[in-house]
Amino acid sequence: MDRTDVIAGVLRRPTLRRRLLGHELRGRLIQGLGRGSTVPEWTATIPQLAEDLDTAVTAADAAAAAITAASAGAGHALVVEQRGIDLVGTCQCGRPLGRIRPGSPLDALAVPWITHTTDALAASAIRATA
Ligand SMILES: [Zn+2]
Repeated sequence: MDRTDVIAGVLRRPTLRRRLLGHELRGRLIQGLGRGSTVPEWTATIPQLAEDLDTAVTAADAAAAAITAASAGAGHALVVEQRGIDLVGTCQCGRPLGRIRPGSPLDALAVPWITHTTDALAASAIRATA
């Protein structure tokens, strides 16, 4: 998930930390309208929305930094070895990725490796920062 996705996610459904105060209704407000509707799903002041965006982007940046650090520290390179007549893929950290016949597309090993290095490590980084 890149920063644009994080920002778009907040704009779709901000997690505003406090209710809008009455006197703030006189100031400039931002509203998110429901899909195909003119009914607002949320209303926020600019500082409220800016704070939520900053929090979400900061958390996403920290998670990305943790993933980079974990990848560099533990080592998550894709390793392909020939065993017998098959090619066996493992991650450098030891996670098995599969076994293919020579001549088969390497995607059968690369796709699980990409899933491992993005989703699995992202989940562990998010758990580590939570
Ligand atoms: Zn790994």
